[in-house]
Amino acid sequence: MPTFSIHTLGCRANQADSEQLAQILLSAGFEEVAFGQPADCQVINTCTVTREADRKSAQMVRRAARLGEQVVVTGCGAAQKGGAWQRVPSTALRLPPDQREQILEKIGAQHCPSGERLERNWLRRDRARALLRIQEGCDQFCTFCIVPYVRGRARSQTREWVLEQVLQLGAQEVVLSGIHLSAWGRERDEDLADLLEFLLARSEGIRYRLSSVEPDLFPRRVFELMDERLCPHLHLVLQHASDSVLQRMHRGYQLADYDALVQEFLARVPGASLTTDLMVGFPGETDQDFETLMDYVRRTPFARIHVFPYSQRPGTSAARFPDQVPEAVCQIRRDRLLKLAERKRVAFQRQNLGQVREALVESESERPGWMKATSDNFLPLLLRGGPALRGKRLLCRLQRRWGEQIIAVVEEGF
Ligand code: SF4
Repeated sequence: MPTFSIHTLGCRANQADSEQLAQILLSAGFEEVAFGQPADCQVINTCTVTREADRKSAQMVRRAARLGEQVVVTGCGAAQKGGAWQRVPSTALRLPPDQREQILEKIGAQHCPSGERLERNWLRRDRARALLRIQEGCDQFCTFCIVPYVRGRARSQTREWVLEQVLQLGAQEVVLSGIHLSAWGRERDEDLADLLEFLLARSEGIRYRLSSVEPDLFPRRVFELMDERLCPHLHLVLQHASDSVLQRMHRGYQLADYDALVQEFLARVPGASLTTDLMVGFPGETDQDFETLMDYVRRTPFARIHVFPYSQRPGTSAARFPDQVPEAVCQIRRDRLLKLAERKRVAFQRQNLGQVREALVESESERPGWMKATSDNFLPLLLRGGPALRGKRLLCRLQRRWGEQIIAVVEEGF
């Protein structure tokens, strides 16, 4: 049986693409092995969002090429302009992200047992949760971001297509993802709330979660739909809290707009969890801008924050901005923000102790006799039990902190 491995860099959208690639290869009779093991086809799903991501992408491609088998490079680094593609061995095959469904043709049909694609069995083994990409590209052109240049204009799958994929996936939880997920359906005068209503009415028993969303086009009607089937969790990207930085980033909103959305979310969705992405060291970011950001983070109950130091991407307008922040200053700001983010994460954990939440059991823990689970409000949990629990949705009481996780017990009688 031919084998494949996948290594994924970057965001949830890339992870969703890797899921799709894995399904296609599994359906064609391939067997998946861990990345780094000998495999007939090694896929590297690259990211170019920062210089560091670009460097790591190229490094992973070179590492895969040293194993001597077929290497397929996809993701943003495989797009026409920029990215890791320019620096990878000439033997690697380039699979632009919008052509990922053609991976079998790309690698040659000889690996396909029947010579054709088999009926798709979308569920990758042991996956309680599946990621599904429903939107592609972005029209926002934030000044620091290379993505619109490499992923093209915003476009989205139809709701019928999404439903069909959800039903084929067979997962307990489906995470809907996209490059600019809030822009889903815009070209057809539909929005995310329309899509969620449609899905919830036609896919009984499946729990949904939204991946990262941008505030500008996010429809507030989604809050009305958040209950036990649409997780009360929003990864609402902020990037910065200083209006002058937001303006130069071309984010399309000011802090007051973002905060109004946050306050409404927290007021209308009980037990909600709010997570975000923040960038430090954007060109021209002053000490005062940075303190504004720290101040907003202090007074907002973020459960988790991803901190990104600004990275100069050739081809973006911010790369030509004056006042690039020295790397040493950027590191100091990043470290301060990371420390604060950690305090916020712990505070949210503590706030949830004693509560009963619905958890999805996902995989075995490194701790024997325990399973990893995720609460509806995105807290990582540990539950006593074995693999028979995988894929179950259980009501659990959150008891005590265990590092990054919370020990939880299944509610009696459930
Ligand atoms: S919204 Fe901005 S940061 Fe996000 S993909 Fe589009 S251009 Fe990039």
